[in-house]
Amino acid sequence: MQKIFDYVILGAGISGLAIAREIKTQNPLASVLILEKENELGMHGSGRNSGVMHSGIYYPEKSLKARVCAEGAKAMVSYCYERNLPVKMIGKVIVPAKEQDDGQIDLLYNRGVNNGAAVSIIDEKQLSEIEPYARTASGRALFSPETAVVDPKRILNELYKELIAKGVQIKLSCPCSSVKPSQSSLSTPYDSYSYGHLINATGQFADKISHKFQVGENFVLLPFKGIYYKLAENSGIQLKRLVYPVPDLNVPFLGVHSVNTIDGSTYFGPTAIPAFGREHYYKLKGIDPEEALKISYYLFQLYWKNEQGFRQFSHDEAGRFIKTKFLEAAQQLVPKLKLKDLRPSSKVGIRAQLFDKKACQLIMDFIIVHRENSTHVLNAISPAFTSAFSFSKYVIKEMNEKG
Ligand SMILES: Cc1cc2nc3c(=O)[nH]c(=O)nc-3n(C[C@H](O)[C@H](O)[C@H](O)COP(=O)(O)OP(=O)(O)OC[C@H]3O[C@@H](n4cnc5c(N)ncnc54)[C@H](O)[C@@H]3O)c2cc1C
Repeated sequence: MQKIFDYVILGAGISGLAIAREIKTQNPLASVLILEKENELGMHGSGRNSGVMHSGIYYPEKSLKARVCAEGAKAMVSYCYERNLPVKMIGKVIVPAKEQDDGQIDLLYNRGVNNGAAVSIIDEKQLSEIEPYARTASGRALFSPETAVVDPKRILNELYKELIAKGVQIKLSCPCSSVKPSQSSLSTPYDSYSYGHLINATGQFADKISHKFQVGENFVLLPFKGIYYKLAENSGIQLKRLVYPVPDLNVPFLGVHSVNTIDGSTYFGPTAIPAFGREHYYKLKGIDPEEALKISYYLFQLYWKNEQGFRQFSHDEAGRFIKTKFLEAAQQLVPKLKLKDLRPSSKVGIRAQLFDKKACQLIMDFIIVHRENSTHVLNAISPAFTSAFSFSKYVIKEMNEKG
């Protein structure tokens, strides 16, 4: 017999959990089921990120990211304080790696102010006082005092406990294996369910699920691998804040930067190297030959048409497979860094980046598509972890208006 729920959410990453929490906040009596294909939380994007609560600097006015990031960061930091979860208000400096990047500082400053982020422009002397190991190529930098770091897995586990206490059913090791949209029903290998509304928050697989609903058929998710090196403890380099480069604003990645994790370690990364499978984290494991062919085809198109300056971007990123090239990128931010200071690490994540096949473009903003009884979160890229609590409010508001 089919079990019936008001809402079935696919995926127990930060998006799925935050949306479930928002549903229960607005309607405590709603029955909610979350299906998660893995046997534990945080196996993909939500457990493999930098753990940075972005303050909202990068995003153009009117973008969805601009609307939800700053508010989301504040809500996530408050959640950590309320629940006694670790959080460090560490701050961030954004430095031009090349002199010609200097003009972007004013643009980013204005975006930050418009988006509600605390941000200031500092000179070389001020930079050396607050972050002695960081370098600016132009004599200026941006300072974001409110950028925080958190422990993403602790947050996921806390949300899990909170949702269970509120009566949400969360089934791990339960992939959604087939759907019948016309009957509002779906199956896992073990059970069948009917739903009033389905929310697809499956991260790296969101396009595949949405296509089963004839939604977003123009879109495909391309996986980009982010590897990190760990800063050796005996490097003699101490970074008090996060050090990011002024990014290439044509592409949806922020460039190799330093990350101080909540346990006190420092990493450099992540890269944005094409991966050949949605779960191609390590060596050959996770390569999907059929997918690899399609990914190569779409990347070739981007390269050939040089959309969004993709040619230069891919040359830079391809080089970062090689440690000396990775070092060069990191040294533009922290010149004292040496090859021996970068230790290989198992920290790796995959950013599933939405690609519009018709327009041949990487989509820069979050994309949500609503249908009568389903909602699809199609491009939950960074800063989706930061924004999750305000993003989920936005998703539910739109769902109620459009549903
Ligand atoms: C290297 C890296 C660094 C990043 N750094 C930051 C950062 O510092 N700050 C920030 O805000 N963001 C950052 N991000 C982005 C952020 O981590 C993601 O945007 C966010 O975690 C996406 O969450 P999600 O819940 O949408 O997807 P996911 O976390 O991928 O969750 C989706 C879940 O769906 C499950 N699933 C898939 N298919 C099925 C199925 N058929 N049935 C059931 N379940 C299914 C998966 O197992 C998974 O658990 C980073 C991402 C990466 C990869």
